[in-house]
Amino acid sequence: MEIINITDLTKVYDTGKVKVEALRNIYFKVEEGEFTAVMGPSGSGKSTLMNIIGCLDRLTSGSYVLEGSDVSSISEAEITRVRNRKIGFVFQSFNLLPRMNALKNVELPMVYMGVSKEERLRRALAAIERVQLSDRLQHFPNELSGGQKQRLAIARALVGNPAIILADEPTGNLDSTTSMDIMSLMSELNQEGATIILVTHEADVAAFARRVITLRDGLIVSDSRNSI
Ligand code: ADP
Ligand code: MG
Repeated sequence: MEIINITDLTKVYDTGKVKVEALRNIYFKVEEGEFTAVMGPSGSGKSTLMNIIGCLDRLTSGSYVLEGSDVSSISEAEITRVRNRKIGFVFQSFNLLPRMNALKNVELPMVYMGVSKEERLRRALAAIERVQLSDRLQHFPNELSGGQKQRLAIARALVGNPAIILADEPTGNLDSTTSMDIMSLMSELNQEGATIILVTHEADVAAFARRVITLRDGLIVSDSRNSI
């Protein structure tokens, strides 16, 4: 099944004085179960594309169909609902809530989804087990290592059973050994069926993905599939 179908997308940031055309002529389809890396130099539009795919930002022109529904023209309220239900985010800076323990951090997205208390606990425990952090349930983010924080963030991204997991430079704050551990986990999740799009500028990180698209000056300049 096709999860994402982006057609002739343009994104222009209008800051008043200058207009920046951050993306143009973007055609991008993603099938269920794909694992895609987005590469390209700084300023090429990677984060802008991820923000649009993740429904954190709106496109300027073109269309974006997510799991069969056109999200380019829906209201803010609807787009928030789509984001909460369909997208799991993993960020370079983890974005965990410092005053919540590991378990509460993972339960939180399900609060917004209206999942019952018992079900939240059950699913959070399963997600934390999946990333091998069951012995850290009561730990606060500042009591976890970088790799553990990112595993926790991955558990949080997974727990709502999203259509797609988006990761913007998830290994950017990690040493190389920990980065490879995190990428192995991402790879396993993909083999278990997760659809993943991940931004990186490191070739050894991108090598875990089965497809690599490259952006330059807001354009997709290559789209290739790794043979494995
Ligand atoms: P990347 O993630 O590949 O480094 P970005 O998507 O962050 O690139 O940025 C693409 C272009 O859009 C850059 O020229 C950047 O300066 C510009 N840009 C990004 N965000 C904004 C914004 N909020 N307002 C204005 N310009 C922006
Ligand atoms: Mg970026």
